Amino acid sequence: MRQNPDKSVKEIARQRITILFQQARKRFLTDQELSNRYVHLAQKIAMKARIHMPKEAKGLYCKHCLSFLYLPYNVRVRLQKRHIAQTCLMCNRTMRHPYIREQKARRAASQKRKSI
Ligand SMILES: [Zn+2]
Repeated sequence: MRQNPDKSVKEIARQRITILFQQARKRFLTDQELSNRYVHLAQKIAMKARIHMPKEAKGLYCKHCLSFLYLPYNVRVRLQKRHIAQTCLMCNRTMRHPYIREQKARRAASQKRKSI
């Protein structure tokens, strides 16, 4: 396979994944099946190029059933002690994302305020 010297395959894959997620969001209200298919394609591209899903795409789809998640239609978000729990309402399974970094930042900011 010939490679473009300016853009690596991985870079192109990242761009395509971003575009697919934008389109998935656009199409969700009219055609949910289509946006789920876009997520599926994005994951296939990521696997083929051997890259991780982009950080901003991580909360946007269910990693169990690959459906596109769109608040408030098919996802429930709850804050728990150290993580954000996202429940996919299509398959009723939960994904957890840590937010300890944000808590630490907030704690540091409040400490600063007290000391002033
Ligand atoms: Zn799911």
